[in-house]
Amino acid sequence: MQKQSLLGLTLAELQALVKELGMPSFSAGQIASWLYVKRVTSIDEMTNLSLKSRSLLKERFDVGAAAPVDAMRSVDGTVKYLYGVGENHFVESVYIPDDDRATLCVSSQVGCKMHCKFCMTGKQGFSMNLTAGQIINQIVSLPECERLTNVVMMGMGEPLDNWDAVQKALEIMTAPYGFAWSPKRITLSTVGLRKNLRRFLLETDCHLAVSLHSPLPQQRAGLMPAEKAFSIVDLVDELRNYDFSKQRRLSFEYILFKGVNDSMAHAKELLKLLRGLDCRVNLIRFHAIPGVDLEGCSMEAMTTFRDYLTSHGLFTTIRASRGEDIFAACGMLSTAKMEEKGRI
Ligand code: SF4
Repeated sequence: MQKQSLLGLTLAELQALVKELGMPSFSAGQIASWLYVKRVTSIDEMTNLSLKSRSLLKERFDVGAAAPVDAMRSVDGTVKYLYGVGENHFVESVYIPDDDRATLCVSSQVGCKMHCKFCMTGKQGFSMNLTAGQIINQIVSLPECERLTNVVMMGMGEPLDNWDAVQKALEIMTAPYGFAWSPKRITLSTVGLRKNLRRFLLETDCHLAVSLHSPLPQQRAGLMPAEKAFSIVDLVDELRNYDFSKQRRLSFEYILFKGVNDSMAHAKELLKLLRGLDCRVNLIRFHAIPGVDLEGCSMEAMTTFRDYLTSHGLFTTIRASRGEDIFAACGMLSTAKMEEKGRI
């Protein structure tokens, strides 16, 4: 019988589990500490649990930690890790070290249902949701785990399309019994799935990044079919009801495609759309992907676009391009691996 994973269980779930197994109630906190603070990889290492409790746990569970199965290193220090999940499925996490910070881009699904035109994961189609344990494992089994300062839920998949697992993973990252990280260290990126966006905003204090990519609804729908169900105009209107002036940050991701969304007319529409909202825009350089007729802009064009927005009061940055030599575009490595295994 396949054992279940302890990793990914919240404190409430561990409390229910120890009760069911007849273990002392304080064992739940002890197990959480072994999993999320000491980050052990086997139940035998949980030495403050009695031998009987450990053996009861081992009948049905293991820790569920699994090291990456592959890694690609960039000359700039970025590392793309590949984790096996389920049977012959793979997800990527990208570790991005910088001077005084180190960020991990974490995946939430194998594949994605959103079919964004510019994304390799979108081209894979959807295979499965990750469990909270498989999301947390990308962090605890990361060789550089102790150096991490930030997590961005921007890897493979749409996190709000797998909200229950993502919500649990965010709880484990921020709760005192878990990693006890400040929510300011975590950013969730979404195309804007409305119902779960509300839950994310109400139930967490993590930063929000919205994939925008065009201020023109019709054009955005061509780049991101999700626009048809989740209009960016309605989304921005709704975001006006929340307070982003304090600790929580709101940003809009904008990949600049040459000759598509990089004109001054687009910049003006962007200003109009986001007027009065406490937010910033991150301009992202496009990494070309096979079979997609989109090209990235020159750095000069990106700078002109940024300067126009900034000079009109919209705080705009150009995100540094990292790991270009290892195809940092999300989904490339896992697509190759799953093709090799005959999964796609
Ligand atoms: S960009 Fe994000 S939401 Fe769009 S297809 Fe790729 S993984 Fe899914």
